[in-house]
Amino acid sequence: MNRKEALAIVKEQLNEARYTHTVGVMETAIKLAEKYGEDVKKAELAAIFHDYAKFRPKDEMKEIIIEQNMSKDLLEHHHSLWHAPVGAYLVQKEVGIKDEAVLRAIEYHTYGRPNMTMLEKIVYVADYIEPGRSFPGVEEVRQSAENSLDEALFLCLRNTIVFLIGRKQPIYPMTINTYNSVVQGGG
Ligand code: GDP
Ligand code: FE
Ligand code: FE
Ligand code: FE
Repeated sequence: MNRKEALAIVKEQLNEARYTHTVGVMETAIKLAEKYGEDVKKAELAAIFHDYAKFRPKDEMKEIIIEQNMSKDLLEHHHSLWHAPVGAYLVQKEVGIKDEAVLRAIEYHTYGRPNMTMLEKIVYVADYIEPGRSFPGVEEVRQSAENSLDEALFLCLRNTIVFLIGRKQPIYPMTINTYNSVVQGGG
């Protein structure tokens, strides 16, 4: 599957704004892969499909989480987290993507995991800093990604956790586990 085919497949799943975000993540992930010596094609593919399940109905995602024996604690947390692991499952099933490294980068793009691979870090950070994003502090993370992927990853996690605390929102335990791993030097 080439880039054009992949983008055409994902476009059908998304609205215009989310498709534009996806193209931004793809371009950013490719740049990061070139800079940090990761496989550019894998970064491109994972970025293109990272939000594949974003618009699936809540009930469908819930059913997949239960049937596929995914972490039960997902269901106790906000449904905006579900599209990441569900997306990894659906792109394998519906699109036929088999590359485990690519699938895991999709699975962990929202909350990470301890000891992330470079590909996982690239998709996670690219999702946060793509040109369409305007979070407070995003410019600092963009600058940081020029020099250190791990520092950029730390800032993404810090900002996300602080943002959630500011809104009195629960934090998914894996987000905390990822943060701990990053500050303890595990990446
Ligand atoms: P997007 O799909 O490109 O919008 O971005 P993400 O997949 O990274 O994040 C989806 C949503 O999950 C965003 O609104 C994040 O703020 C939110 N999010 C990320 N981590 C957590 C968490 O630990 N807990 C909660 N409640 N929300 C989170
Ligand atoms: Fe997402
Ligand atoms: Fe993200
Ligand atoms: Fe995204």
